[in-house]
Amino acid sequence: MYNAKAYAATSATSPLSSATIVRRNPTESDVQIEILFCGVCHSDLHQVRNEWSGVMPTIYPCTPGHEILGRVTSVGSAVTKFKAGDLAAVGCMVDSDGTCPACKEGLEQFCPNVTLTYNFPDKHLGGVTYGGYSDSVVVDERFVLHVPENLNPAGAAPLLCAGITTYSPMRHWGVTKGKKVGVAGIGGLGHMGVKFAHALGAHTVVFTTSPNKVEDALRLGADEVVISRDANEMAKHAGSFDFILDAISADHDINAYISLLARDGNITLVGAPEKPLQVAAFGLLFGRKSLSGSPIGGIPETQEMLDFCGKHNITADVEVIPIQKINEAYDRLLKSDVKYRFSIDMASLKSE
Ligand code: NAP
Ligand code: ZN
Repeated sequence: MYNAKAYAATSATSPLSSATIVRRNPTESDVQIEILFCGVCHSDLHQVRNEWSGVMPTIYPCTPGHEILGRVTSVGSAVTKFKAGDLAAVGCMVDSDGTCPACKEGLEQFCPNVTLTYNFPDKHLGGVTYGGYSDSVVVDERFVLHVPENLNPAGAAPLLCAGITTYSPMRHWGVTKGKKVGVAGIGGLGHMGVKFAHALGAHTVVFTTSPNKVEDALRLGADEVVISRDANEMAKHAGSFDFILDAISADHDINAYISLLARDGNITLVGAPEKPLQVAAFGLLFGRKSLSGSPIGGIPETQEMLDFCGKHNITADVEVIPIQKINEAYDRLLKSDVKYRFSIDMASLKSE
């Protein structure tokens, strides 16, 4: 075991502050990574503040962060895919059983024995796993990804959650040229959804509550932008969408979006608001519409997404912050004041 520098919260109401955590010494199948950047996901905030207490209660101290990008510093003797000096990344998962039907299909996110990157029982050290708001991490090579060297590292970190979480359902639901696709909520996830829908060739429509994001949405690849609080503007799109990605982090009226779906259209929730949403049955019945959800994505698809981003030069639009600004960044997330992902420069931890 060795000590790593980190930021952690000690309760649902305390700010994140400087902490020391322990990491395991690399085993033969492990990759040790010096973390350069870690994206700030709204899930980090939900978890730190114990907003998902019914499903995943938070164990304190909690070090979040699952958009991890860094350089490999050492590898175990059985590691074949990485060597010291490689650019490498880790997302929301750090382990799974590797033997269940989901794992065999490369859908580790559905493994009953998956280990998430933070706040999950740690098989090696006991206690819980600690995330990427830290200067180093040790992860089994099966859960370490290659990052194309042409991508800007600060902007590539968010691909590990915001990227795969939006790419995966778009691939699953057949987003392609000729489809009309909506993306609701232009934060970290939503802005990646816009980039992917556009890159996949769909007619892309953004729904936002923030009039000051309209110009950016067009720049990100939207063909049209709708202010979702304007009922008249919404009504113009009634019954016309093949697919809508709902990436909204807070309570909202999902029925307003269901009414915009065409027959057999689908709306997929990737946003995970604290409180249950109310769904009117008739909105789905008429038109045989479907409502579904999607969690992150499997390791093979995450690598596919990173390679797709390398080829199309896609990264997140980031505001790089020192770790000392993390509590301020959380406050801004709650005001939808993010353009469009905070990415923590981990060099800032050195002064702690
Ligand atoms: P974010 O950066 O904070 O963006 C959320 C966006 O939602 C805001 O920028 C805002 O967009 C919109 N919004 C916020 N409050 C709203 C309200 N009251 N009514 C309508 N719209 C509102 O969050 P994120 O990191 O993208 O995460 C979004 C959600 O996805 C979170 O709940 C997160 O936990 C969840 N998530 C799920 C997965 C998964 O595997 N499914 C993975 C990662 C994150 P506008 O300004 O455009 O309106
Ligand atoms: Zn996330």
